[in-house]
Amino acid sequence: MPTPSGPYLDKGLLPSDFYAYEDLLSEREREKIEAVREFLHTQAAPIVDDYWARAEFPFQLVEGFRDLGLTAWADPDSAESRPSNLFSGFIALELAHFDASLATFFGVHTGLAMGTVLACGSEEQKRRWLPAMSRFEKIGAFGLTEPHGGSDVAGGLLTTARRDGDGWILDGAKRWIGNATFADLVVIWARDAETHHVLGFVVEKDTPGFTATKIENKMALRIVQNADIVLDGCRVPEANRLQNANSFKDTATILRQTRSGVAWEAVGVMFAAYEIALQYAKEREQFGRPIAGFQLVQDLLVKMLGNATASCGMVTRLAQLQDASVYRDEQSALAKAQCTVRMRESVGWARELMAGNGIVLDYKIGRFVADAEAIYSYEGTREIQALIVGRAVTGGLSAFVR
Ligand code: FAD
Repeated sequence: MPTPSGPYLDKGLLPSDFYAYEDLLSEREREKIEAVREFLHTQAAPIVDDYWARAEFPFQLVEGFRDLGLTAWADPDSAESRPSNLFSGFIALELAHFDASLATFFGVHTGLAMGTVLACGSEEQKRRWLPAMSRFEKIGAFGLTEPHGGSDVAGGLLTTARRDGDGWILDGAKRWIGNATFADLVVIWARDAETHHVLGFVVEKDTPGFTATKIENKMALRIVQNADIVLDGCRVPEANRLQNANSFKDTATILRQTRSGVAWEAVGVMFAAYEIALQYAKEREQFGRPIAGFQLVQDLLVKMLGNATASCGMVTRLAQLQDASVYRDEQSALAKAQCTVRMRESVGWARELMAGNGIVLDYKIGRFVADAEAIYSYEGTREIQALIVGRAVTGGLSAFVR
């Protein structure tokens, strides 16, 4: 039996968009999404499995990301207006539908790193960093998590920033920082040694006292280069302190935005899993007929389609709330939790439907099964999202223990 040709099955718009969510986009936006898909098909499809298997990053794709021009609007001199959250969500979906690592690379650079400069940088800082970042000439990373503080990073952040003349000395460690092995600009969150407030800094590559070491042997998102960072007397000028990042509340503002992006990624993975499983079920024969003709197999397919379709409705409405600037932390936390739970369930069903071949990389689904595990945990685990939502719905009864 031939291996399936992709999750990149059809070259048109999302083939499994059962409720035609994409019709909510303008024609121009849909054209841009088609351009993304074309780029993925022609440039990334031939190499993605190989890079995933070797746990390496395909730097040759960065130029293609630049040519898509998706972040050109972020250059302060650009005449383009900021795209809607709905459109940005569909971009995240489309990338993750193809490959969750590339979606993560894009999300870390544009959402976490550029998003922090946009939200917390002064006008001068935006002019300094965003033009090159928006063209993918300088790549960003976002250093929040620490070896001893993932879920508890708000209260437990240990990296310190000590004022030293016209600069700051950063000391501490970060873990899991995506893109950081090669990033030109790394946002580092650190606690002011005097005031204990959390501040944000941009540390430029090759700054003395900054080292980033790749985390080896990951079983998920193998293309993403995650790093352990050490900050050892790392001196940065005051000009690199993000002027509008003054407390963890500012960090949380970024996470509110990017968690909804992760929920969109989860939807992309779900659609991919469904499409891969459907194609396989139509081609694979047992008992003298395609397995797609068995009731139990159809039940799995319909449950997968239901998960993806319902989750897409959730993130679509979330994006509308974002676009109206009325959305809250707990709304993006609920979407992140709900969509990633459904994603994990769906990739499991797709793998189950493909049985033995479901664990062979050539059959595509294995990569999504593995990658779903990382998406499920990053940007806050399900438990932490549940605590954020739980606190909100109980009128402020915080069940975080500290
Ligand atoms: P822990 O916090 O140690 O949690 C372990 C378990 O305990 C979890 O199940 C958790 O839910 C549970 N738990 C903890 N506290 C509670 C509680 N109060 N109640 C109930 N259960 C609780 N971070 C960055 O800053 N930048 C990045 O670019 C980045 N990229 C990442 C990429 C990948 C592939 C991964 C895996 C992680 C990345 N992260 C990044 C870090 C990520 O956000 C953290 O892994 C995540 O927040 C969880 O933290 P932890 O792994 O330390 O788990």
